[in-house]
Amino acid sequence: MLESAISAMTEQLACLGNPSSLHSHGRATRKALEDARESLAKEVGCLPSEVIFTASGTEANNIALKGLFWAGRNSGKNIVVISSIEHRAILDPAHWLSTHEGAEVIQIPVNFDGVIDLGFLKDLIASRGDQISVISVMHANNETGVIQPIAEVVAIAGDIPVHTDAVQSFKKTPLSFSLLGVTAMSLSAHKIGGPLGVGALILKRTVEIPSLLHGGGQEREIRSGTLNTPGIVAFTTAATSAHFNAAEVTTLRDRFISAIQKLVPNATVNGLSSARLPGIVNVTFLGTQSDTLLLLMDGQQISCSTGSACSAGVHEASHVLLAMGHNDETAQSSLRFSFGASSTASDCDFVASVLPGVIARARAAHLT
Ligand code: PLP
Repeated sequence: MLESAISAMTEQLACLGNPSSLHSHGRATRKALEDARESLAKEVGCLPSEVIFTASGTEANNIALKGLFWAGRNSGKNIVVISSIEHRAILDPAHWLSTHEGAEVIQIPVNFDGVIDLGFLKDLIASRGDQISVISVMHANNETGVIQPIAEVVAIAGDIPVHTDAVQSFKKTPLSFSLLGVTAMSLSAHKIGGPLGVGALILKRTVEIPSLLHGGGQEREIRSGTLNTPGIVAFTTAATSAHFNAAEVTTLRDRFISAIQKLVPNATVNGLSSARLPGIVNVTFLGTQSDTLLLLMDGQQISCSTGSACSAGVHEASHVLLAMGHNDETAQSSLRFSFGASSTASDCDFVASVLPGVIARARAAHLT
């Protein structure tokens, strides 16, 4: 968490008052909350009234996908369209809608570069557009960093509401709700130096959707519950600080990629020819097992990620890499590196320097 966000949160934690109370303490908290809403709206390119604060990006995704589906179903539209590379916070609610609400879920495939197939979407809309209640495509993928053509999706979608999960993109690459033209967009505070457990759904003012939570009627009656003012103030403090320099992080990332290509000749960077976020590099190291790699890197004090789920202790291949055309074996020999605002060239060089040894040990372990 950014120092400035910690200070803003600490200061607000000491303030008495529920923002829904009418007494002066309540009104003071309400003022802090509405100032925060206004700052976030400016940063995101939306109206303050379009910001609905939530407790996570997951919650924002659930409200958007389920709410837009229910709103569409009222006029007989039963199809939910998502991409095949969504985060579980969209995949799982879509699956829930299919098993509990009778939705038909259709996935848009991606190409080997990790970009959705716009031709597939065009054909689908031409044949069944009148049955689609919502389209949800993430703005950038969390495993590969590949940025998706959301403005084109909106243009193809016409009147069909489009939601985008922009949790990974916010503050990392230019992002404007109004310029994109989407109906709904999800954000999360902890990806930008804000606190854990705070998020936002940006929802067009003119759109009304059924809510998941009922109660005090906060946030346009879409998300009842006393607002977490300290967390929200810290979120917007992080959102308005200029701590992430995309050009610098891109330079670091590219330096790291060049080092990998030199040191580990048959390593392949996934999504390399696509537009990507500055801070994510996903690499396949053939002949290794990513769990082993992760542990060997951890032993060198380097935290990286496999990007795939573990269920009941069994390592599953990443659905994102499989959707991009990998097989189980290559998908399971891939690792994701993330760079942040505080990463340095010497961090990068250190990781590159230990990689050849780690890869050699991981390959030896894989052969036995
Ligand atoms: N969507 C994407 C693309 C993410 O990467 C994440 C978190 O990693 C989420 C949604 C979930 O956000 P949260 O952790 O705030 O629930």
